[in-house]
Amino acid sequence: MKEKLKTFLKILGLYHPLQSFYRNCILFWLKSYYRLTYYSHKGKGFICNFCGSSYQKFVPEYPEKEIKTAINTNEVIAGYGENVYCPNCLSKNRERLVLAVLQNFIPIENKKILHFSPEKHVYNYLKNKATVITVDIMPGFYKNIDSAILHADATNLRFPDNSFDVIIANHIFEHISQDLLAMKEIYRVLKNDGAAILQVPYSEKLETTIEEPFINDPDEQERLFGQKDHVRIYALKDYVNRLKTAGFKADVIGEERLGRFKFHAIQDKECVILCSK
Ligand SMILES: [Zn+2]
Repeated sequence: MKEKLKTFLKILGLYHPLQSFYRNCILFWLKSYYRLTYYSHKGKGFICNFCGSSYQKFVPEYPEKEIKTAINTNEVIAGYGENVYCPNCLSKNRERLVLAVLQNFIPIENKKILHFSPEKHVYNYLKNKATVITVDIMPGFYKNIDSAILHADATNLRFPDNSFDVIIANHIFEHISQDLLAMKEIYRVLKNDGAAILQVPYSEKLETTIEEPFINDPDEQERLFGQKDHVRIYALKDYVNRLKTAGFKADVIGEERLGRFKFHAIQDKECVILCSK
């Protein structure tokens, strides 16, 4: 029934506008709720690098029971745990990590940036400093973030070679069947002196990536990979090797260089894989 309603609304062109409206309502309600309930936790502790608010703790998010086994058994670094959302602006830990990397490792002023599946806080930061083109395979889903978002298939980009100074594809490859093709396309459109942030959920416990690239069974995907639209869980070593196969130099930045950003409530143990040509 749910799928039929979805298809019907898609035909009418109402599915994504309704989703945007629904998401905005939920966000407004959540923001009000957390600002109120975390008021007593205001003070020294974590500082959100987007809004500057500081709290002794941020809002946690734990995996739901349907996905818990996939996440916990494989020890996936997927953004769950304590201190995930800023209680004031609702930025997520993975957005705050990207911002810390941008502010400290990648100059963006007046650069040309390609931002896949744009996250609201990251996009708002970028658009004031650089020329940003946002893209997604389902652009309607992100219209409430950037109304000018373009449709793009990451495995077949319609941009010339060497087009962008910076590319941000934060948590997209785990959705894409032919991920190596997408990596090669991103490599192609990145300028020779450019930089790319290409984070994915990954496991350091896994020796090899577990995947079913062409699976189309949302419940099974949730059970196996921890989300209804994921097709794999990367083993970190394998992920880095795939990026290198696509042509990238992949610099894995770990605890020793990210530790100083812990006060922004970024995720424990998460590495940043900084890519260049
Ligand atoms: Zn914030």
